[in-house]
Parts: sequence; structure tokens; C-alpha cells
Amino acid sequence: MIIDGKKVALSLLEELETKIKALEKKPGLAVILANDDYSSKIYVDSKEKHSIALGIKSCVYRFDKTITQGKLIQLIHELNENPEINGILVQLPLYSHLNEKEILELINPKKDVDGFHPVNVGKLYAGLNPYAVCCTPKGIVKLLKAYSIEIEGKDVLVIGRSNIVGKPVASLLINENATVTLAHSKTKNLKNHCKRADIIISATGHPNLVTSDMVKKGAVVIDVGISRQGCGRLIGDVDFEKVKDIASFITPVPGGVGPMTIACLMENTYELYLLQNKR
Ligand code: NAP
Repeated sequence: MIIDGKKVALSLLEELETKIKALEKKPGLAVILANDDYSSKIYVDSKEKHSIALGIKSCVYRFDKTITQGKLIQLIHELNENPEINGILVQLPLYSHLNEKEILELINPKKDVDGFHPVNVGKLYAGLNPYAVCCTPKGIVKLLKAYSIEIEGKDVLVIGRSNIVGKPVASLLINENATVTLAHSKTKNLKNHCKRADIIISATGHPNLVTSDMVKKGAVVIDVGISRQGCGRLIGDVDFEKVKDIASFITPVPGGVGPMTIACLMENTYELYLLQNKR
């Protein structure tokens, strides 16, 4: 079965729209774009469009290369103090002259809508409740649950160990009682690890890394990877056409994990609003 991420995301967004309409005031999301990467610009535009559609106040700060570390630090402090802003998102990567780590650590963890602050990362790893969980990993778990795919006790292989996808999704799944293996570019015999897995989650950006001979019959395959081909077409890490005949469930690219990431960002903004406006 092909997992329809667009459909699951749409239903989450519709629920959120109703909940946001019922709030006393609009939640606010600040997005900082300080790089000249084409994909980042598209992501930020999409975040702005979705926020507006849901009734979230969107403040996008777009900077050219002249932006300094000091000015960004000042902006983060202002946003931390601004009661109209509930979520702060720094689109990564930043221009190379900027210190990403320092900027991310300055965000108030209760406004860290991306869940990248060490406090939220630590809470996730410790099995405590982070103020916000990273959007793509959260979206992956929601997709599995939307299709009633059992996680507890399953052998899960996560390919990719980044801080934004691989490690947090592994933590979330451990917290859901899965047995998780985390693979990366230095992993030996990736095929053997794949063959054993009940659920494969691939997040590498390496096109066609997961081929049909690597997948156990009936396994669940979640493709997070996005690569842009010469013609502009997006493809994932998985050889979708062949693997779909072996897997029990599989996500397409595009239309699988991607739409869930943005829907979870909207949900995180709403949840941080509730956290900050608790009576
Ligand atoms: P990243 O920071 O570049 O990390 C890639 C990971 O893949 C690294 O851990 C790397 O291993 C591993 N890797 C690379 N080639 C490999 C190979 N041949 N075999 C095994 N492991 C390999 O990337 P990311 O930010 O996590 O993103 C991963 C992909 O997901 C990208 O295509 C990105 O565009 C996509 N993405 C999609 C969404 C979405 O919403 N759909 C969201 C975020 C990211 P090492 O650590 O050893 O280098």
C-alpha cells in the first residue's frame, strides 16, 4: 500500500485550522532565512503560505550576505521576548560566516518550534516530553500510526544519523518500544541490516540507495530522502518502482514524508502557543 502523506497531512492541517480558529489570538511563527540556497527559499515560502492559510501570524526575516552574527543574535533575543511570537525557526543552513550552533542555542527552548535546541534534544533522548519534537521525525511516527503500522517490538533500521532526521527518529521509535539500528555511510553490510528490518527509514539524500534486493517481503519502507534530478524531478533514497512490489507499505517521493514535515511544524506552533498561554 502506498502511504499517502498528502492526505494524512491535510487531515492534520484541517484539525489544526479548527483549533486555531477557536483561540483567543493568533499563534505567531517567526522564520529566519539567512542563506541563498534555492531549496531553503522554497521551504520558507511554503511555511509562510501554510501559516497564513491556517490563521497563524507569519513573520519571515529574509537576510542577504551582509547579515552579521551580532544582528542575528539581537533578533533572536527580541523574538524570545516578543509575546506575539510563539515559535522561532532558523532555516538551516545559515551563510557560512554565521555560527549556527550559537544561534540555535539562543532560542528559548519553549519557542524552539523545530525541536533542535539541546534542551529539547536532551528531553527527547531521555524519554521526557520535549517542548517540541523535530518536525520530520514527528511526521514519520504520525504516518506510521495513521496507517496502524505496529511499532512496538519491531526491528527498525534508520539509515542516516543527522541531528534533524536520523538520530531524533531513532529516539522517537525507541521511546515507542521498537528495536532500532542506526546506519550511516560507514556501516558495513547495509544490505544485511536492511534485509532484517521490519521497518526501513531511509534519510540520506542518496538516490536509489535502497533497492528491491535489500528489502524483506512485507517490510514497511519510509523514504525521507529528497534529491533533485537534472530535469528538476524529485526522487527519494528508495528505488520506489521495484520496492513497492515487495513492501507492505511504502511512502512515495514526493507526497510521502514531505507534507507531514510542514503539517507538524504548524502543529508545533499551535502546541507552543498553548504552552505559553497556559493559565
Ligand atoms: P545529512 O545531514 O546530509 O545526513 C545524511 C546521512 O546519511 C548521514 O548520516 C550520512 O552518513 C548518511 N549517508 C549518506 N550516504 C550514505 C550511504 N551511502 N549509506 C548509508 N548512509 C549514508 O542529511 P539530512 O539533513 O538528514 O537529510 C537526509 C535526506 O532527507 C536529504 O535528502 C534531505 O533533503 C531529506 N529531508 C527530507 C525532509 C522531508 O521533509 N521530506 C526533511 C529533512 C530532510 P554519515 O553520517 O556517515 O556521513
